[in-house]
Amino acid sequence: MTPHGPSLPHPGTGEPFLSPVPPGAGWPADLATQRTPRASTADEVQSLAASSRTLDQLDARVQVCRACPRLVTWREQVATTKRASFAEQPYWGRPVPGWGDPHPHSLIVGLAPAANGANRTGRIFTGDRSGDWLFAALHRAGYANQPTSVHAADGLALTGVRITAPVHCAPPDNAPTTLEKATCAPWLDRELTILEPGLRSILALGGIGWQQVLGAARRLGWQVPRPAPKFGHGAAAVLTMPSGRSIQLLGCYHVSQQNTFTGRLTEQMLDDVLGRL
Ligand code: SF4
Repeated sequence: MTPHGPSLPHPGTGEPFLSPVPPGAGWPADLATQRTPRASTADEVQSLAASSRTLDQLDARVQVCRACPRLVTWREQVATTKRASFAEQPYWGRPVPGWGDPHPHSLIVGLAPAANGANRTGRIFTGDRSGDWLFAALHRAGYANQPTSVHAADGLALTGVRITAPVHCAPPDNAPTTLEKATCAPWLDRELTILEPGLRSILALGGIGWQQVLGAARRLGWQVPRPAPKFGHGAAAVLTMPSGRSIQLLGCYHVSQQNTFTGRLTEQMLDDVLGRL
């Protein structure tokens, strides 16, 4: 989609942007440019992910990916129609890559960007209630320099932790299809490969994140226990690399409003799991 409509000021920098935001326009933490190679098919995701040499190169390529037609349409449609309360803001409207410490000891794996959260702000878990919960907890645990996360220029920084998602585009009803999860999987495989030498744990937020991490581990030749470990809050499994080094996979209920509003996930439960990273 060609961005259209008026340029609106970024809530942090005040710079004007169209929605969706074109690559290389100066959005905070936009690593892509007009020249960044774009994947338009699953095969192109595979080859561009596999040839990414650095985390920044990988993230830039993710930021311009167009391989899932339904998700591209949805993310851009939301970016132009917008929620009424954000009508005066530009929407990112592109894939949201992983974000945080570039040399983390722990990787947090969620599900997918929220339509009016990360799909608006361009930074994972930023701009919605789920992110409020997660970043407040990361701050209590000493991994975040501030407890709030409102936009991509708010000064938030993570130490020791990076957050990513197995699906990088906002899906309708927060429900990616099996094909969309498979198409996006090579980005996660490559991210894990790049990060693996420094990782000691992976925290899966929700059952889909857990399953996607196990799938990535098998594709990468890591040893996964049999029978396959089941997801649950506080569940743990040991994954072993071909080198013999092991990392811990931890499960945590997702920080969705459905879980936090109902008390299925409490602050204490989240703090307890983060304490095991
Ligand atoms: S979900 Fe993943 S593979 Fe599909 S368009 Fe978005 S970034 Fe590309």
